[in-house]
Amino acid sequence: MDWHRIRSDFPILDQQVNGHPLVYLDSAASSQKPRAVIQTLTHYYERDNANVHRALHELSNRATEAFEATRGKVARLIGAASEDEIIFTRGTTEGINLVANTWGTQNLRAGDVILLTGMEHHSNLVPWHLLAQRTGATLKHIPVLDDGTLDLAQLDTLLTEQVKLFAFVHVSNSLGTINPAKELIAKAKAVGAVTLLDGAQSVGHMPIDVQDLGCDFLAFSGHKMCGPTGIGALYGRMALLESMPPWHGGGEMILNVTLEGSTYKPPPHRFEAGTPDISGVIGLGAAIDYLQAIGLENIQRHDHNLANYAVQLMGEVPGIRILGPLSGHRGALVAFHLDFAHPHDLVEFANSHGVAMRGGHHCTQPLMRRFKVPGTTRASFYFYNTLEEINRLVEVLHLARKFFA
Ligand code: PMP
Repeated sequence: MDWHRIRSDFPILDQQVNGHPLVYLDSAASSQKPRAVIQTLTHYYERDNANVHRALHELSNRATEAFEATRGKVARLIGAASEDEIIFTRGTTEGINLVANTWGTQNLRAGDVILLTGMEHHSNLVPWHLLAQRTGATLKHIPVLDDGTLDLAQLDTLLTEQVKLFAFVHVSNSLGTINPAKELIAKAKAVGAVTLLDGAQSVGHMPIDVQDLGCDFLAFSGHKMCGPTGIGALYGRMALLESMPPWHGGGEMILNVTLEGSTYKPPPHRFEAGTPDISGVIGLGAAIDYLQAIGLENIQRHDHNLANYAVQLMGEVPGIRILGPLSGHRGALVAFHLDFAHPHDLVEFANSHGVAMRGGHHCTQPLMRRFKVPGTTRASFYFYNTLEEINRLVEVLHLARKFFA
């Protein structure tokens, strides 16, 4: 793979920041966009822009065709049995809220258990807090071990028949841990629990096959996989989607409306009220084409090479504490704490050297408490990053040590 040529598909990366070449290490928060996606958005607004589904004129037909074609692209990307199992959302957060508010409200009662883990992003915690408050269901969590993996020894005790839903993150955005999703899902299914996988950090980074994984729901965000912001998708197994009531009411999701009541379309349109993010969906389609042309296996391999190289080199910085697994496969990010600088000060220092990272709790406050750190600094990578950029990051960490000392 010619990763340097692939990197040149990203015009934004070719710039100086504070007098230094930009080193963008914040892709876990949001990835950059290749020219193919930017041009698709421009083309859409210059040539095809119109509302979808509602008219028979040429522009609306073109917009509808490109919009609906993306549903098939998403389905193929994640191995869904049908494109009707793909609901467009604003992102992972909205996908999880949709499940909590529809399936959750319909199925959970007092005494039921929602099983989560100690490494969830707030978007896979707060919707369940709200649901538990509404229904009287109880929340339980699989603890996280010191090495940043789940304490699977606790699984048999926690995964009882009271568990109606098991929702967990595929790749942790704060640890880089890759959870054994297939194994966990199989165990949850054995007790009759419905499973939801938070794929925010895995989709677009590795091959995903929801049928092989066996999950009932998978939520992810387009902006973390080269697509535009404000668009994502929720996969749901058709039998479950068909049983679920709508969440948002409005245009496009109905079959028939009278002044007194309404009937609803089948999935996925039942869950897509109002004018959708048309350009976002079409841009997501272009991102999927782009990623698949490179190959998800290739991206995964490059991710691992970058992460392993970073862990090794960063581990040599005196005073560093890296969170998450130090050996084996990890996601494309390294979160760490330095004993000589607060994450926010370090991020500012790195920024003054052109290196973009993120510091804070990364929307995982319970995990920060678990590891007794106020927050961490996170360097996160994607396939457009290079080993040279990691060298530069480590150089800046050494400079920081001198500066803060
Ligand atoms: N889950 C994980 C693991 C994430 O990393 C993120 C984004 N930081 C989310 C959920 C939420 O994604 P979004 O903000 O795109 O809805």
